Amino acid sequence: MNEKAEKHEFKAEVSALLRLVTNSLYTNREIFLRELLSNASDALDKARFQGLVDPELRDRDAKAAIHVQADEQNSVLVIEDTGIGMTRDEVALNLGTIAHSGTLNFLERAKAQQESGQKPDLNLIGQFGVGFYSAFMVADRIDVYSLSAVPGHEAVHWSSTGDGTFTIGPSEREVRGTRIELHIKPDAKEFLERYRLESIIRKYSNYVLHPIRLQVADKDGKTDEEKQVNEATAFWTRPAKDLSAADYKEFYKHVMGGFVLPGDEPLGHLHIHADAPIQYVALLYVPGKPPADLFQEDRKSLQLFARRVLIIENCDKLLPPYLRFVRGVVDSEDLPLNVSREMLQEHNTLNAIRRQLTRKVLKLLADIASERPDDYAKVWDNFGSVLKEGLHTDGGHQEELVGLLRFRSSQSEGKLISLADYVAAMPEGQDAIYYITGESQESVAISPHLEACKARGYQVLFMTDPIDEWVVQDLPNVKDKPLRSVTQGDLDIPDKDDDKKDEDRADIAPVLGKARDLLSSRVKDVRASKRLRESASCLVDDEGGLSRNMERILKAARQNVPTRQRILELNPEHPFVQAVSKIASENPADERVGTWIELLYDQAALAEGVVADPAGMVKRIQSVLNSSIKP
Ligand code: ADP
Repeated sequence: MNEKAEKHEFKAEVSALLRLVTNSLYTNREIFLRELLSNASDALDKARFQGLVDPELRDRDAKAAIHVQADEQNSVLVIEDTGIGMTRDEVALNLGTIAHSGTLNFLERAKAQQESGQKPDLNLIGQFGVGFYSAFMVADRIDVYSLSAVPGHEAVHWSSTGDGTFTIGPSEREVRGTRIELHIKPDAKEFLERYRLESIIRKYSNYVLHPIRLQVADKDGKTDEEKQVNEATAFWTRPAKDLSAADYKEFYKHVMGGFVLPGDEPLGHLHIHADAPIQYVALLYVPGKPPADLFQEDRKSLQLFARRVLIIENCDKLLPPYLRFVRGVVDSEDLPLNVSREMLQEHNTLNAIRRQLTRKVLKLLADIASERPDDYAKVWDNFGSVLKEGLHTDGGHQEELVGLLRFRSSQSEGKLISLADYVAAMPEGQDAIYYITGESQESVAISPHLEACKARGYQVLFMTDPIDEWVVQDLPNVKDKPLRSVTQGDLDIPDKDDDKKDEDRADIAPVLGKARDLLSSRVKDVRASKRLRESASCLVDDEGGLSRNMERILKAARQNVPTRQRILELNPEHPFVQAVSKIASENPADERVGTWIELLYDQAALAEGVVADPAGMVKRIQSVLNSSIKP
């Protein structure tokens, strides 16, 4: 060790990660190489971009290439680039801490998997930005030599055996960039063999844009000639007619970071060569599985190139946030290279590209929906709740977005239907689109609130995604039909054959009066129901205002919402309700009436899953049971 080297401790989370990486056995240790090559490629991109805007940058004419050198005799594997390099502070930060927010989640999940006897899914390592540390799977010591391309910094040497500490000292490196020396573990010698290295590089890094050159010195010290292993071409510049479905799938993996989960095949792609008014190429994919960072702030996004030079790794200005699940590359001929990234993000060209891409992606989704409904069902289940955000944020595309909406319903038997399908299937006389919001498909499917619609053959849409509460507010009408909640307001759907007038309904005023007195502190009102058919009672919300489901969602998000009192509805056609009403009017002092009313209230709450006073309810049921077996 160099005498001037300082010893440092890894941050706690790095140590935890390293223990995980080094102490477990993984079948796919090979991914470490993908991670290091991708870091090297990023570093070359950064240097190339910085060189365009900063004439002072060190070694501006350095050739962009990644060199991989294996030395079988000494068990050393070197990955070296002439990229942006790192200063002393950057080395300490980048190779001593974990920067990304998802990493801790990843760690916790991997730990849980390990504790339950499974192999932790280290494949996800790249998605969480802990890539560098994966090299400790195959190396028992790593030396990093780096010289920053920014003038005025000295070269540094970082070294660690992955055991909780690392050292940083000076280095003799004279060209900008980073050299990573892996001292390969005895059980990982395969990663020094030419054949193995070549196949790993082709498998994961074929589309890395910079040449990856490999040279191997074998056990006898014989060194072969250095050879470029990867394609290193801009895949997207090739005409679509020359590319097969397999090519597109292969490139999809590259776009997703070199690796996809099993079964993650793109559900659709879009390859555009646009000439006017702006010249650009876009190759975009709808992923087959939701990316792990879909709801994270620092999530991945589209890669933006300007004439084949990567200028923004995650450019979130190329599509609106509600299409953030789309991944791919955009390469423009019309972007200036010599402005800062911040300015580029606001450039007019990006706005114009974004407008076009938004339209085309929405069209792609509509095409998948009409041509491949089964695939669209997957798109919807993965990304539907993200797409729905667009209804609120992008008024300009409301019509297209409404066309993409899908719901399950009281009649769809678990299948998804569109609003157009819903309206087309409406029986004569139905003049509104009915929906129910709630916590789960199971709970809304058996809700008493559906009874009147069921009796009439009206379909009820199940809205069980939290965001649906906002969707219904943004969708006042669909094809001139208003949306109506079956749990709110005074729902009056007369039955087909016996269209009853209000006067014809049984009079249950006595029980209503009693119930109002008894429950006055708990409900806002008690009234005769027009929506119930089989059930005796249910709870409903006022028209307008927050629904019960919305209250639940806001509370779960720790928002301070007052609980609104609800309305208890009793079914005037129900024999039990009628009998209670009769007894209440004939013998107002009968104590059982109070218990029965309480039980009607309990039942209504229970049908929705929550009873305020379960112990009291048990007592009431028991007293009724007791009286029912009296001889
Ligand atoms: P990620 O690449 O996902 O950020 P890593 O742990 O692989 O996570 O790397 C951490 C950071 O270290 C990188 O973001 C980069 O800033 C820096 N780094 C890693 N390798 C290199 C390299 N070859 N050249 C310059 N910087 C690098």
